[in-house]
Amino acid sequence: MPDVKDREEIFKIHSQGKPLAKNVSLKKVAERTPGFSGADLANLMNEAAILAARRNKDKIYETEVLESIDRVLLGPERKSHILSEKEKKVVAYHEAGHALIAHFLPNCDPVQKVSILARGQAAGYTIKIPEREKYLKFKSEFLDNLSALLGGYIAEKEIFGEVTTGASNDLKEATKMAKSLATQFGMSELLGPRTFGDHQEFIFWGREITQEKDYSEKVAQLIDEEISKFISLCYNKATEVIKTKKDYLDKIAKVLLEKETIERKEFLKIFT
Ligand code: ZN
Repeated sequence: MPDVKDREEIFKIHSQGKPLAKNVSLKKVAERTPGFSGADLANLMNEAAILAARRNKDKIYETEVLESIDRVLLGPERKSHILSEKEKKVVAYHEAGHALIAHFLPNCDPVQKVSILARGQAAGYTIKIPEREKYLKFKSEFLDNLSALLGGYIAEKEIFGEVTTGASNDLKEATKMAKSLATQFGMSELLGPRTFGDHQEFIFWGREITQEKDYSEKVAQLIDEEISKFISLCYNKATEVIKTKKDYLDKIAKVLLEKETIERKEFLKIFT
């Protein structure tokens, strides 16, 4: 994957011949696109050009470029997607849950944007972006980000007394992450410093690749237990935050219901 400097260079190449406004900082765009491949970056610039053309602008401004980041990350906004009042409230609390945990746990990536506008398959979304390019990821960061992933599910449960299908993708991601900790990164005390299964790609960003089993049934059971242990540890941590900071959870949800999308600056104001 290209790092932040590479991404800036790639942007320069793909913006050649495109009418880019002077206010667009390619450095800033590069900082906001960790994990993007070269193809994603090319795609982003094309999306920005299309958006600008559709808006009859003679130049591509920063608004179009930033909006295109979300489009490439999550698919196009679906404004026609009509939610009932109740569903809207659930989505608002769900996203507020993610954002609250990310804000209060010290090793989480900072919240960049929270929205209850549907995009692609998601009814809402919370974007967290690391403050700087990271070449190594610490176990504590994985755990706090795992807690944040569970925040939507927990908020639904705490506020509405039951959960919806809206958390299903989060749970899938959380399970994948917990599995990587135990089987790829040697971050489980019980399983120790070895890997299990033959993985060819960093599973956090990548697709799932057919796994070759190189361990016994007994070990498979231990892996299962470790995955559940990681998840319940993070679940408890996130639940505690949601319970003790419920005032803020309500505030975030309220602002989301009013404005639908909150950018970082406005998000931070909620806590002042
Ligand atoms: Zn979610």
